Amino acid sequence: MQDRYGRNGTDRLNRFLLIVALVWFVLSRVGVARSSIPPVLLVAVTYYRLFSRNIAKRYQENVMYCQVADRVKAKFGINSTHRIYRCPSCGQRIRVPRGKGRIEIRCPKCNAAFIKRS
Ligand SMILES: [Zn+2]
Repeated sequence: MQDRYGRNGTDRLNRFLLIVALVWFVLSRVGVARSSIPPVLLVAVTYYRLFSRNIAKRYQENVMYCQVADRVKAKFGINSTHRIYRCPSCGQRIRVPRGKGRIEIRCPKCNAAFIKRS
């Protein structure tokens, strides 16, 4: 755990914080978000975590983040191995494996077929 953290320098939580900071910063630039202070604080937190010597604590934070993030992803049907599509004719949710290119999906409920990228 120490090795992986030390070598990569960053973890999923830090990447997430940086993406949020970047998006927020851009939004503040185009006038959507009022303040550009929160993204600066987020970057500060990211750097603090990056250089922190308390690796066990940072690792725990990352594990907590991953659990929450995976739960949120599962809720929205975002998954690394499968994708959820909705049948265009009856609305049935259909789970298909990812990475198969353009595939014809046949709805198990109403038998309608539609083509999607998986
Ligand atoms: Zn259907």
